Amino acid sequence: MCRCNLVFALSVPLRLTFPAILGIKTSAWNWINFPNLKFQIQCSEMDQNYDAAYMLRAIELSELAYKSGKGLPIGCVITKNGKIIGEGHNEVFQRMNPTAHAEMVAIEKACGQTESVQLSGCELYTTVEPCPMCLAAIYWAKIDKVYYANTSSQVEPFGFDDSFIFDELRKNAAERQIGYLHVTEPTAFHVIEKWKDADDAAAYPWDEKGI
Ligand SMILES: [Zn+2]
Repeated sequence: MCRCNLVFALSVPLRLTFPAILGIKTSAWNWINFPNLKFQIQCSEMDQNYDAAYMLRAIELSELAYKSGKGLPIGCVITKNGKIIGEGHNEVFQRMNPTAHAEMVAIEKACGQTESVQLSGCELYTTVEPCPMCLAAIYWAKIDKVYYANTSSQVEPFGFDDSFIFDELRKNAAERQIGYLHVTEPTAFHVIEKWKDADDAAAYPWDEKGI
């Protein structure tokens, strides 16, 4: 566990208990290596904008998830301009959908609320460090910042192990456990070409929404 994570893991319970007393705010970055990229998740260690109330709500949702039998104990809240615009918890078992992670559910709700597929200007609070799928979704949604409580290494002994996916991403496609093969099929590319030439609104719905 890096120093940043250790300090944060120790500081969260304190700040959740005494948020009014602990008003000290600094920031830190937790750097993660991704295949050929170096990107950053903001670690939320005493961040200027961090609001413990939103993390408390995410924790509340994480408890609701397993007590209701709907999913694993992970909760997520998305905020914009000081308001919650989307929240959720893991719904993998409720939906019978392995992609229904708390972050995915919250992103879906926030996008529905804002009628946009971009969540720039938003911050995401989650009770567990996002998995590779949710991390990618966070980037697709253009969320500004991520605050997470439990680290991957903290929850890995409980079966939340996503390190093998990060390992897979570092491999060449041909070396991955799941067969990942390129096939030659020109018709598939023709659809892309036809879409590029299409001028009807149905082909470009985001233009109408001003996205
Ligand atoms: Zn996930």
